[in-house]
Formats: sequence, structure tokens, C-alpha cells
Amino acid sequence: MDYNPEPYDDDNIFAKILREEIPAFRVYEDADTVCFMDIMPRVDGHMLVIPKTPCRNVLDASPEQLAACMKTVQKISRALMGAPYGADGITLQQFNEGDGGQEVFHLHFHILPRRAGDSLRP
Ligand code: IMP
Repeated sequence: MDYNPEPYDDDNIFAKILREEIPAFRVYEDADTVCFMDIMPRVDGHMLVIPKTPCRNVLDASPEQLAACMKTVQKISRALMGAPYGADGITLQQFNEGDGGQEVFHLHFHILPRRAGDSLRP
């Protein structure tokens, strides 16, 4: 069966962050992606990576959007593992469609820097 997504909604909160209509704590930006702090962190240092171009989720994404996001995810994750942050591990999360756990309908990847023995907050 084909995937027929809802049209991209330009009013979603991450589109507003991209347009700087609402504030976000940006930690990294390049030509194709932005990384900012999650407003309800499930661990300290919880960040989100999004493409600058409209995209609903992984199912809807182009190979270029996925590649750009994963390049940034890897760059940030490697930086978190190094000094001074010194994470012990990195958990990545990504949700697609409401029944897949997606709440904001602009493609995003969660980066969760982990400490030995910690657990994710609900
Ligand atoms: P998901 O769609 O289930 O991956 O969840 C969306 C994520 O976006 C959640 O972790 C929220 O805490 C986060 N979030 C929602 N609004 C904002 C915001 O304005 N700034 C930063 N993060 C947000």
C-alpha cells in the first residue's frame, strides 16, 4: 500500500522555530539543518535535529534530507561523546505519524546523550 501523507502543515512548531517566530536554543546550524534543545528533555542535553526544508517525517523525506539530518546527528553525537561533555553513550529516537509516536509533524531526530546507569524521563 502506498503512503499518502497529510500535506505538510507550515504552522507546526518546528516550522515556526525555523522562521524564528518562536525562540529555540540553537546549538548548531548549517546550510541544510538546525539542531536545538528539546523543550521537555527526557535526559539532560536532549536535542533535536531538523531539516531546514519542509518534510513531514522519514516516510515523506528525500534521500538528501535524510542524509543531511544524519550527517548532523552524527556530528553532534560525536561531539557529545568527546570532551568536555563526555557522554557515555547516545540514544537516537525518531517517530513517524501519530500512531508511531510523532507529535510535531516536521521531520526530526532526537539525540539523547546518556550517562552510565541513567534512565529516560517519561
Ligand atoms: P515527537 O514528535 O514525538 O518526536 O515529539 C516532539 C518533541 O518536540 C518532544 O520531545 C517535545 O518536547 C519537543 N518540542 C515541542 N515543542 C518544542 C519547542 O518549542 N522547542 C523545543 N522542543 C519542542
